[in-house]
Amino acid sequence: AKTLGRARYSFFHSELNFRLQASLELEQQLAHAIAHGELVLHYQPQVDAMSGAVVAVEALVRWQHPTRGLLFPGQFIGLAEESGKIAEMGVWTLREACRQLADWKARGIRVGNMAVNVSALEFRDHRLLDSLQAALAASGIAPSELEIEITESVLMAETETSQRIIERLRQLGVGIAIDDFGTGYSSLAYLKRLRPNQLKIDQSFVNDADTDSDSRAIVRGVVGLANALGLSVVAEGVETIEQQAFLQESGCHTLQGYYIARPLAVEALEAWMAERHNK
Ligand code: C2E
Ligand code: CA
Ligand code: CA
Ligand code: CA
Repeated sequence: AKTLGRARYSFFHSELNFRLQASLELEQQLAHAIAHGELVLHYQPQVDAMSGAVVAVEALVRWQHPTRGLLFPGQFIGLAEESGKIAEMGVWTLREACRQLADWKARGIRVGNMAVNVSALEFRDHRLLDSLQAALAASGIAPSELEIEITESVLMAETETSQRIIERLRQLGVGIAIDDFGTGYSSLAYLKRLRPNQLKIDQSFVNDADTDSDSRAIVRGVVGLANALGLSVVAEGVETIEQQAFLQESGCHTLQGYYIARPLAVEALEAWMAERHNK
C-alpha cells in the first residue's frame, strides 16, 4: 500500500507539474499570440424570434494555436486574466469586431449590431473606455451598433471604476447586455441603477426548458421582468426546435444558439447569410 501510495503521489505530482508546465507555456505563448495574428473572432448570429431576421452577431474569440489547433476561450481566457493579458486581448477584440462590422456594412452584408464580451477584470481599468472609443472612431461604427456583454460578476465586484465605465457607455449609446442572466448572485437592484438594454437568459435555463418546468417558469419570469422594465430578452443556447417554439411562445425577443447557427468564421458567416437571404 505504501509503494502504491508513493507511486500515486508521484503520479499526481508529475501530472500536476505537467499541467503547470503546459499552462505556463500557454501563458507565454499568449503574449505573442496577438502580435502574431493568432487570435480570431467567430461570430454567432442572434435572430428575431418571430421574423428570423438577423439582428446582431456575437463575437467569440478563438486562438489559432500553431501546434495545438483551434483553442476555445475556456482554454485560455482564465490564463489571460491571470497573466494580465486580458486587457490587451480585449483591446484587440473590440477593434477587430468593430472593423469587421464596418467591413460587412460597406459590402452590404447586414448582420445588425455587434455584441462583444468584456470580462469583469477589464472593467477595473478606465482605459477600457479609451480603447472602446478608439475602436468606434477607427471603424466609423455608431455607438448604438455596439453591444457590450457583461456578466453579473462585473456587478457583484462593482467598483467606482466599473460603475463609471457603465454609466459612460450608456451616455455614449453603447448597448449593455447582462450575460448569463440569472446565474450570478447580485441583487436585482442594479437593473434600476444601471439600466441595461438587454438580458441574456443563461443557456442552462434555455436548455432545460423542454424537460424542466422550473426552468420554463424562470424563462417566463425573466421575460416578464424584462418586458416590465422595457428591456429586450435574448435566449442563448437554443439547440432544438422544441426550445425555439417554447421561447417564441414565451415572448422572448431574440434567439441565439446552435439550432439557428453555430459561431462561424467570417467566410462561413457570410455564406450562411447569403443562403438565408436566398430562402
Ligand atoms: P458566453 O458569452 O456565454 O458565450 C456563449 C458560449 O456558448 C460560447 O462558447 C458559444 O459558442 C456557446 N454556445 C452558443 N450557442 C450554443 C448552443 O446552442 N449550445 C451550447 N452548448 N453552447 C452554445 P465559447 O465561444 O466557447 O465562449 C465561452 C465563453 O468565453 C463566453 O461565454 C464568454 O464568457 C467568453 N468569451 C468568448 N469570447 C470572449 C471575448 O472576446 N472576451 C471575453 N472577455 N470573453 C470571451
Ligand atoms: Ca456572451
Ligand atoms: Ca452567456
Ligand atoms: Ca458564459
